[in-house]
Amino acid sequence: MLKKIVLTLIVSASIFLNFTNVSAHNLGSKGSESAGYLYVGSHWPSRSTNYSEATSDTWENRFKSGVSKFKNENIGYSITEVSSANSSNFIESYSAPSATWVAQRTFYGISNDHPTRWRIQYNSAKSANSWTTVGAHEIGHIYGLADLYEDRNSSKLMYGYDNGVRYTQSSDKTGFSYIYGVLIASNVMTSSTGELSQYSLGNIDNNDEAAREKVKELNEKVINGEEKIIDVSAMFPEVSKEEAFEEADLVIKGSVKSIKSEYMENIDIPFTDFIFEVDDYWKNVLDLNDPENLIITQDGNSVISFNKHPLMKVGEEYFLFLKRIIDSNNQGKFILIGGPNGNFALEKGIIQEEIDIQSVNGESEYEFIRNASNGEIK
Ligand SMILES: [Zn+2]
Repeated sequence: MLKKIVLTLIVSASIFLNFTNVSAHNLGSKGSESAGYLYVGSHWPSRSTNYSEATSDTWENRFKSGVSKFKNENIGYSITEVSSANSSNFIESYSAPSATWVAQRTFYGISNDHPTRWRIQYNSAKSANSWTTVGAHEIGHIYGLADLYEDRNSSKLMYGYDNGVRYTQSSDKTGFSYIYGVLIASNVMTSSTGELSQYSLGNIDNNDEAAREKVKELNEKVINGEEKIIDVSAMFPEVSKEEAFEEADLVIKGSVKSIKSEYMENIDIPFTDFIFEVDDYWKNVLDLNDPENLIITQDGNSVISFNKHPLMKVGEEYFLFLKRIIDSNNQGKFILIGGPNGNFALEKGIIQEEIDIQSVNGESEYEFIRNASNGEIK
């Protein structure tokens, strides 16, 4: 039965495989890493939106703290909690130990060139460096800005990795003004006084049957094709290669032998399991007996894949920093530490990184492992 659902989903989902083309009106120039903002390709029709919560007070308050932060730093936006009967947008928490992202934002549907509903999912199996910043950042996605990945943008609200507290910068504001064509107060938040404290704004506590029914209803609509996903973006943790080495249960080099399976969890959380042939174990703290083949789970599949985290390719070589986790079905699994930051493509012994935030592009594999292990491996 489960298999059938998965297959149906892949089939119906492949109909909107080209979802990135279903973008909203063409706004011309779309920003760039050097401009410090990027247009996501679709945005909420106005600077006002509402949502209901289908989660616990803990997650609701984390989101509200993000809302306050966003509103404090970006004048003129309204994000209001309403009862589940009055909004088709919602925030949700879901425990996905196999996923490496901390939160994701999805747009559904399209009407008059705009998405018709949104969903923000928190991965309650993970701990973020700043849930408040993650919340404000996800709201930035609702209002149409895309993730930035280059190191020079690491202090922008829309930087795509969770590296702690960040504030809306003038370039983020330029991006929002570009999208909504309005002048936004140009004062840049540079305060570094830390997080806004988490506080409650008078909870409309609809963490009840109705809100959860709404989640189920959306999931069913996605399966039967009534709701189409038009854009997904997820925030992955920022992990340096040294931190990844430290944190890893296994550090290996090898190549992808084959794709074992691809699937969705909770309808729209995409994964691919790879059979990976290991050539070298650079670190192995588990009693693994160095098997030749390992099954490795990566976020994304052929239906939904993540920006800057391309799926590994059969026959290609990689350096991987892995952690063993127990997934929601109580199965042991290996996942990449930090998603994109735990996966380094190799070509003829040289590291190949498209977005090189760690300055490792072009390093030989020996330099790379020596540096990552702080000289432990020579
Ligand atoms: Zn993002």
